Amino acid sequence: LANRKFHPDPSVVKVGNTLIGPDNMTIMAGPCAVETEEQLMCIARAVKKSGATILRGGAYKPRTSPYSFQGLEEEGLRYMQTAKKETGLSTICEVVSNEAIEAAVKYVDMIQIGARNMQNFILLKEAGRSGLPVLLKRGLCATIDEWLNAAEYIIAEGNPNVVLCERGIRTFETATRNTLDLSAVPVLKERTHLPVIADPSHSTGAYKYVPPMAKAAVACGADGLMIEVHDNPACALSDGPQSLTFEKFDKLTKELKPLCDLV
Ligand code: PEP
Ligand code: MN
Repeated sequence: LANRKFHPDPSVVKVGNTLIGPDNMTIMAGPCAVETEEQLMCIARAVKKSGATILRGGAYKPRTSPYSFQGLEEEGLRYMQTAKKETGLSTICEVVSNEAIEAAVKYVDMIQIGARNMQNFILLKEAGRSGLPVLLKRGLCATIDEWLNAAEYIIAEGNPNVVLCERGIRTFETATRNTLDLSAVPVLKERTHLPVIADPSHSTGAYKYVPPMAKAAVACGADGLMIEVHDNPACALSDGPQSLTFEKFDKLTKELKPLCDLV
């Protein structure tokens, strides 16, 4: 179902009032984690002003350490809904369980399956039945074939609205958090009709490398970007080192404009 052989035209996925597909560059931006209502509102306004059309914010955080901040859960989803109402931005939130999907359906426009859950087949099936578009991130050690099979699980449940997100894979290199596999973008464009976006934040793990890799992702044909933005990265509860300040994010979107059709 994901194979381009049987579906030659590229798919366009509707998220709230935003379209993700080959005709425009979609920017999803926001904090790694929803921390407070004020923080989310402030970030939502700033990313909208700079050209983002989808607000990201994690309410369920599958952290490497069980002692790290785990997210506000349903309360965080409610703040996402408030931010959507106030700014008109569409919204996306990661889900980590069937219960989280059930809650997310009430508050956000798109659900995200994170890298660590890419082969959680029970979760993929539930996402396929949720009725919401799904952003499927690449697993840390997943091949493109395994990733496309994971997408197939979602589509096979009757949900064709899947967007793939290259977020870096684990390699021997330690200078960056992960290695952004940009060659996956043209490979996927050949093999599937699904939209493909790139996440230069989780792949590099360092704010300095986000702008060059964002531009490279646009140059190789990505349909969108997911970028972490925080009002005060030094105090962020998660992923501060890779988060852009409002100024840096605004500068990046201005630099991206000549490279793509940024709405
Ligand atoms: C995220 O987007 O906040 C996240 C945890 O990403 P990943 O699953 O790619 O690590
Ligand atoms: Mn993050």
